[in-house]
Amino acid sequence: MISIPAPHTALKNFDSFWQALQSLLALPPESPPAPHIPEPGDSSLEQPLQLSLQQLLGETKITYAPEDRRKYGEGMGYDGFLNLINQGLFPSAVVYPESEQEIALLMLWAGQREIQLLPWGGGGAPYRAKSTPQGAFLAVDLQRMNRILDLDTEQRRIRLQAGVRWQDLHSQLTAWTTGQVFPFDEATVGGSLATSSIGTQSLGYGTLIENTPFIKAVCPTGPLELMQPAAFSSDLRGMMLGSQGAWGFITEVSLRIFPQPQEKGLILASFMSRNEALEKLRTLLRSGVPLSAARIVDAEDLLLFNASPPPSLGRLLRSLRGNTPAWAAHLILEIHGSREAYTTTRQYVDEWSKNSEGQIALGPRTVPFPLQNWSQRFALIRPLWEQGVLGHLITAVVPWHQTNGFLKDWEEALRSVLLATGGVPGVLLTTVYASPQHALIYTLLFGRQASGDPPALQEQLDDIQAVALETKRRWGMNTEQPQLIQHTLQCVAEVLDPLEVILR
Ligand SMILES: Cc1cc2nc3c(=O)[nH]c(=O)nc-3n(C[C@H](O)[C@H](O)[C@H](O)COP(=O)(O)OP(=O)(O)OC[C@H]3O[C@@H](n4cnc5c(N)ncnc54)[C@H](O)[C@@H]3O)c2cc1C
Repeated sequence: MISIPAPHTALKNFDSFWQALQSLLALPPESPPAPHIPEPGDSSLEQPLQLSLQQLLGETKITYAPEDRRKYGEGMGYDGFLNLINQGLFPSAVVYPESEQEIALLMLWAGQREIQLLPWGGGGAPYRAKSTPQGAFLAVDLQRMNRILDLDTEQRRIRLQAGVRWQDLHSQLTAWTTGQVFPFDEATVGGSLATSSIGTQSLGYGTLIENTPFIKAVCPTGPLELMQPAAFSSDLRGMMLGSQGAWGFITEVSLRIFPQPQEKGLILASFMSRNEALEKLRTLLRSGVPLSAARIVDAEDLLLFNASPPPSLGRLLRSLRGNTPAWAAHLILEIHGSREAYTTTRQYVDEWSKNSEGQIALGPRTVPFPLQNWSQRFALIRPLWEQGVLGHLITAVVPWHQTNGFLKDWEEALRSVLLATGGVPGVLLTTVYASPQHALIYTLLFGRQASGDPPALQEQLDDIQAVALETKRRWGMNTEQPQLIQHTLQCVAEVLDPLEVILR
C-alpha cells in the first residue's frame, strides 16, 4: 500500500518556474518598471492611545514597528497586492490577543475611540470582501489563540481555539484526524469558517460545516454560542459561517474527529482530455467506490510547479515540448481506509485503462503528489507581479452536472479578458476538487499586466472579476444574496456590532 508523500517537497525555484512559464506565456521582453510599493510610516496612533492600548493588552501583544505592520498591508493574493500599491493602507498597530476576554476589551476600547478592527487568521485574503478602512484600524492576529482545549476521543470531538492553523493541528493529532484539509494549509480554523471554505477531503469526511457542531464567537455586543441544530430547527451558525468576520471574532470551535485510517492510498490516472477525466470521475462518484478526495489537475500544472516530475510523467513533458498528443489532465484519487478499499478502487480504475486503447494511463503504485499547497505556490507567483505579469486565482463552486459546460464557458471568457486587457494570450491552469455535490473550481490565471500605472492594473483585475461573475450568473449561480438575506444580515450586523467596530 502506498502512503501519501508530503505534498510540498517538489516545488520549483523561481528561476525554473519563470523558465517554465516562458514556455507557456509570452512574457514581456523587458520587465516594465516595478510598481512603487508603499511602506508604512510611523503609526497613526498617538502616544496616549498607544499607552492605553498597552495598559489593556500588555506591551508584548502589540507592535507598531513599520516592518511588522508592512506584513499586514496585504493578503497573499494578487488582489491584496493591488490594494497595497494603489492604496497603501496599513494597520496602525498589529495586536495578538491571547483570550476571548482580551478580544472583548479590545472591542470596547476600539469602539470608544472610533478605531476599527480587522480579524486576521492565516492571512490568506483578510481584506477580501471588506470596505476600505476610512480611519485608523488594527489588525487583530489570532495566532496566539492556538490551543487545543480538549480532545474527547470517546465523543470523537476536539475543542480548540480558532487561531489554530490546520497544518499545526494535523501535525499534533497523530492518531486522529479532522478530515478537513484545505489547499491553503496556513489557513486557520476560524478563517476557514469565516470564509465558509470547503475542504478537499469532503468526499470521505464531509464538509467543514457538517463537522463543526459548535462555534463560539465574541461580538462587540457580547458572546455567541452557536450549536448545530436538531433537524428542522434553524441553524444559527450561519451568523458566523461565511460572515468574513464582519461582526465578530470566532474564538472557539468544536470539530468532529475520526481515527486515522489504517491505510492511505493514491491513484493517478492520466487522460487525453479533461472532459474525459471529469466523466470518469463522475462515474466513480456515482459508483459508491470509497474515495476520500479526488481532483483533476491540468497537465501544464506539473510543468509549471513540480520540480522533479515522476518518471511516469516524462512522456507528458516530452510531448508538451513536441507536437505529439499529450496527456491533458491527471485525475488524482485518495483512498483512506483499509487495503480492501484501495483494491476496490484500483480494480475499478484498472478497467478503464484496459478498455481505453492507450487513451488513459495509470501511474505507478508510488507517485509523487503534484504540489497542492497554494500558499507555497503563491510564494513563487508573487515576484511575477513586480515584473509585468499577472498571476491570480479565481474560484467557483459548480454542481457536478454543469461542470463541463461551465468550464468551457468560464475558461473561454477568462481567456478573452486576459487577451483583451493584456494584449497577449494568457494561460489558465484549472484544478477541479471534488466534493459530494459540487466541483470546486480553482483557476489560476497568468497573463500580461495591462500597461499603465497601478490604477490600470486594478481596472484590469476588476474586468476579470466582472467576467467571472457574469459567467457564474449565466450559469444560474446566484452570486448575490437575495434581498431578504441581505436585509437579515444587515439587521444581524446592527445588533451585534452597532458601532461598526469590526471592519466590514
Ligand atoms: C492567494 C490566495 C487566494 C485565495 N483565493 C480564494 C478565492 O478565490 N476563493 C476562496 O473561496 N478562497 C480563496 N482563498 C482562501 C481563503 O480566502 C483563505 O485563505 C482561507 O480560507 C481562510 O483562512 P485564513 O485563516 O487565511 O483567513 P484570513 O485570510 O486571514 O481571513 C479570511 C477572512 O476571515 C476573517 N477571519 C479570519 N479569522 C477570523 C476569525 N477567527 N473570526 C472571524 N473572522 C475571521 C478575516 O477578517 C477575513 O475576512 C485564497 C487564499 C489565498 C492564500
